[in-house]
Amino acid sequence: MRPDLPLIARGKVREIYDAGPDRLLLVASDRISAYDFVLPTPIPDKGTVLTRLSVWWFEQLSPVLASFDASHHLVSASDVPASVAGRAMLVRRLEMLPVECVARGYLSGSGTKEYERTGSIRDVALPAGLVEGSRLPSPVFTPSTKAEVGEHDEAIDFAAVVDAVGAARAEELRELTLALYRRGAEIAADAGIVLADTKFEFGVDPDGGLVLGDEVLTPDSSRFWPADTWSPGAVQPSYDKQFVRDWLTASGWDRVSEPPELPEDVVAATRERYVTAYERLTGTSFV
Ligand code: ATP
Ligand code: MG
Repeated sequence: MRPDLPLIARGKVREIYDAGPDRLLLVASDRISAYDFVLPTPIPDKGTVLTRLSVWWFEQLSPVLASFDASHHLVSASDVPASVAGRAMLVRRLEMLPVECVARGYLSGSGTKEYERTGSIRDVALPAGLVEGSRLPSPVFTPSTKAEVGEHDEAIDFAAVVDAVGAARAEELRELTLALYRRGAEIAADAGIVLADTKFEFGVDPDGGLVLGDEVLTPDSSRFWPADTWSPGAVQPSYDKQFVRDWLTASGWDRVSEPPELPEDVVAATRERYVTAYERLTGTSFV
């Protein structure tokens, strides 16, 4: 499972290889993380599901990107080394912008924590009375820093985005992020899935064009909730990792030491969730 290319970086879930001066190979492994730990047990097919989902989304989102004179970085998912076929994307190498472009249509996680303290998420004011899982009156752009390895991303004001990339580009990032989120949420809703929030990463190509990079609208970059059980006021079950989280909690693991191996039935149920998410969203069979 190693292409014969120089390894540039290894994230929790993905490996990035040098595929030429203007190309990268992004390879998604079957590793799964929970509570900020990579678990010792892989989920079979997870890397392939996430890569195929990302590839499918790039296609779905192309019209939105085109309407902003932007594009995406995917070159090919088939012209890749055989050892990583199915789980790899050949992409254009970009100068990444130093901001994580987060869109939220629902209040959750770190957003809820900040809202409970301040009534807003950084400079984005929100109405009173929202709870974990609430739908927001309209989607909001809540950018964050790109954290170093082991650090958590930190929410930043729009002004910090302006400082980092300039006023015009910051405005463009906000509008494009929200447009992509809206389109993604609409497609997910048709499949019975709530796209609560997501994170996009953009880069710039050698001509200065804005390009959507990284992975898009995968369970690793987004919160997906089953629409039929959505009920604000508590942490929503996540579409993909709920079995894993529930089992880890019940196992008595302290969330400090190395996490335990997952039992076979949890692995199988989790794999099934990823495959089902893929099949429901794309309307195609995984096998
Ligand atoms: P983790 O996901 O483990 O928290 P991470 O985000 O550093 O850590 P990955 O997500 O696997 O790990 O790394 C992908 C990296 O590649 C990110 O830094 C992302 O910004 C970068 N990247 C994605 N697409 C491109 C591209 N087209 N050109 C250059 N860099 C890219
Ligand atoms: Mg990442």
